[in-house]
Amino acid sequence: MTQPDTLDGMPKRLWSCTPTRLDTWLTCPRRYRFTYLEHRSKGAPWAHNSMGSAVHAALRDWYVAPSAQRTPAYATELVERQWLSDGFRDTAQSEAWRSRSAQMAASYVVTQDADEEPVGIERTVSAATHGMALSGRVDRIDLRASADGGEELVIVDYKTGRHPLTSDDARSSLALAIYVVSARRTLRMRARRVELHHLPSATVAAYEHTEESLERHLGRAEQIAQEASAAEQRWRTDLEPLATSVADGDAEAIAAVDAVFPAVPSTGCSWCDYRRWCPAGQDASQEIASWTALGARETD
Ligand code: SF4
Repeated sequence: MTQPDTLDGMPKRLWSCTPTRLDTWLTCPRRYRFTYLEHRSKGAPWAHNSMGSAVHAALRDWYVAPSAQRTPAYATELVERQWLSDGFRDTAQSEAWRSRSAQMAASYVVTQDADEEPVGIERTVSAATHGMALSGRVDRIDLRASADGGEELVIVDYKTGRHPLTSDDARSSLALAIYVVSARRTLRMRARRVELHHLPSATVAAYEHTEESLERHLGRAEQIAQEASAAEQRWRTDLEPLATSVADGDAEAIAAVDAVFPAVPSTGCSWCDYRRWCPAGQDASQEIASWTALGARETD
């Protein structure tokens, strides 16, 4: 879809967004308001996020190091150095997971070519398209040989969650599609392949996008962006001044804000960082411990 012009012929201002921002709107507009407009404080940190951050940071530093230094032992050392204990039940649980995660990173790097130099490590890429100024930070961008004898970019996203992923997950990921489009624009090279590297299972879920599949994702992103940007406009013009009345429990003000930023309560609200601010989310979900996502192995 072409970008509409304003009446005076000047191009319409692009709406800046990231995949996370779009996903937040799609998941729950109230959460979007808490996150991006009101900047409310989050709940306690999650242990699985601490673990994921440490592993991501370790893999980043592993690739930044000279290739001769890229050994499994160095990956272990980096995870141990980057470790965060936030969200774990106690020191014993944190230490057990530090050791497990260091081993997981070491096993993963064995499967990678230490002599390959990625084109990007935690690289921010961006593209202006479909009325949006898209941007995102990619875990890793490889440059690999393509079937026609040339070279193309490959988007690599590290995953440390419990469940293995499938090619359907790679295909349906709006974030990965946005990274492809943005990497093309930023690095001015061909790109179509996306890969989810699931470290706990040592598996890779991949998908090769076509122009049609990318266009479908961009169309969806544009639709979400239009809804979110229109709501933001309403926030700035009409709703932000009602914030004090909302805080005071004024039913009319609350209804006006909720009409534009409705809550989407579900059992998944257990994982929402803003659950403590949200009675609807509390009614719909259980309070869970910050180490719950570690799963059955939480007692380690
Ligand atoms: S707790 Fe649930 S309904 Fe409330 S803001 Fe979070 S996701 Fe939305």
